Amino acid sequence: MDKQLDLKVVIVGGGFGGLGMGVALKKAGIDSFAIVEKGGDVGGVWRENTYPGCSCDVPSHLYSFSFAPYRSAKTRYPSQERILAYLRGVADTYDLLPHLRLHTTVVEASYREDIARWELTTGTGEHIVADLLVFAVGQLHRRYVPDIPGREDFTGAAFHSAHWDHRQNLRGRDVAVVGTGSSAGQLLPKIAADARTVTVYQRTPHWVLPKPAAEFGAISRWVLRMPGAHRLYRQALYYGADIALAPIVHRGWSARPAHWLARIHLRRHVSDPALRAALTPDYPIGSKRIVFDSRFHSTLGRENVELVTDPIARITRNGIETGDGTHRRADVIVWATGFRASEFLTPMTVRGRGGRLLREQWSDGAEAFLGLAVPGFPNAFLIAGPNSFNPAGSNPGMKERQIAYIMACLRWRDAIGAPAIEVSGDAMRQYRQWLERAIAKTVWPAAGASWYKHEKGRVTNPWPASARTFARMLHHHPAAAFVPVAANDAAPVTPLPIHRHPPTHDEATPTAS
Ligand code: NAP
Repeated sequence: MDKQLDLKVVIVGGGFGGLGMGVALKKAGIDSFAIVEKGGDVGGVWRENTYPGCSCDVPSHLYSFSFAPYRSAKTRYPSQERILAYLRGVADTYDLLPHLRLHTTVVEASYREDIARWELTTGTGEHIVADLLVFAVGQLHRRYVPDIPGREDFTGAAFHSAHWDHRQNLRGRDVAVVGTGSSAGQLLPKIAADARTVTVYQRTPHWVLPKPAAEFGAISRWVLRMPGAHRLYRQALYYGADIALAPIVHRGWSARPAHWLARIHLRRHVSDPALRAALTPDYPIGSKRIVFDSRFHSTLGRENVELVTDPIARITRNGIETGDGTHRRADVIVWATGFRASEFLTPMTVRGRGGRLLREQWSDGAEAFLGLAVPGFPNAFLIAGPNSFNPAGSNPGMKERQIAYIMACLRWRDAIGAPAIEVSGDAMRQYRQWLERAIAKTVWPAAGASWYKHEKGRVTNPWPASARTFARMLHHHPAAAFVPVAANDAAPVTPLPIHRHPPTHDEATPTAS
């Protein structure tokens, strides 16, 4: 098959970022775009993660688009099914379904300097040519399963938490769960109620904070029926997360209330001192993403649940052997071992100006101006790119900011009549300096390995400041950081000076989103 599609914009990924971008294009009257999605439906991680107990640990009123607020007077924390239904609803309401190209994997994307456009090749042999390329593939979709000796010898069922095997009935079976992050925290209480035994293999304890009930109580429901209450609640969550949670990643006194709360929570739910000691992290809170869950710790105290802290030595045909020589039987192994989050855009081959390969430019860890643009890659943007994951708030909100900025870039490019625009080297340098200073003030550089970091040690994934700071920095006019690029230009023209307070543009006006 050798078809060609000619578009103004091509979006890769049909999750929150890709759908949000599609809505922004529709609102701008642009119909010439496609959303290319490797899966068979929209939803991104909310389509992929179907493990028992999968839900959001950010309240629904905040974890939704500002233009399509999720307004339930009943649900505080939505389940995976509800979020997926919400995203399907957004795709339907904004007429995005005709733009979706499902079951389509982008293999390669190359910038054609002769025409100043992007050319994409898909796994089905399709060619897509577009002015603008937007990667909206998220950070948490490449599953990680550790390469432990004997893994292939296991004769039972083994699967990753993000690829749940629903054919497996866990009732009465011996289940091993490897990992104790957010996914394990959510699935453990559910499977422990069914399985005969659950053995949880912990390498490093995570800090755990309690999560309020998933449904509102009677008084909250009554309050939420008042006019404007949902909006106010959303604003309160936005500012509350910024004020209470964002400072946790900055060492010192600002982290103390969360640290105390986590310790109190552990003490309340785990009475056995040995188990409590095993579950107490020896690193500052915020170094890894905090697990928000109220049932994880208490479930570890169940009779049929065992926490194992000896490192896994090998997998056998019917279980797991730890370093101390103990062998524990398992019928099923659940790999709750997370994602290759720092391998942005892998395994796609992305070529920019002069044939430069993005993977080579990022060999020491990915970086992008405000998580959305890379010098040498004109007219290409990322949503949720490097250092734009908000560990303390709503990521749909972060994505909306980036989408508004990308739209401003598109409008500016059209207004000046340039075939392409590119973030300047100077703007990238200034931003990098700011980012490095901001990251140095956090707990992350001194922390051990986590999905926040590249294997070479650079912190590549989380945003090191508040959501309001992100909004402020994305409030600048693109002319402050981008330069026009002509077709066959060897290099962009001299960068314009960066304005601290350029004229505002509607879509970038900070609101609680
Ligand atoms: P994760 O936080 O990266 O946790 C992976 C776990 O696997 C860690 O406990 C890790 O231990 C362990 N592990 C990795 N390799 C191992 C090995 N060789 N032997 C033993 N243990 C090993 O992954 P996740 O739980 O899937 O969560 C990833 C992210 O997804 C979260 O941080 C969160 O941002 C997001 N998430 C969000 C929600 C939500 O409600 N919004 C729900 C689930 C997930 P170490 O700590 O020692 O590396």
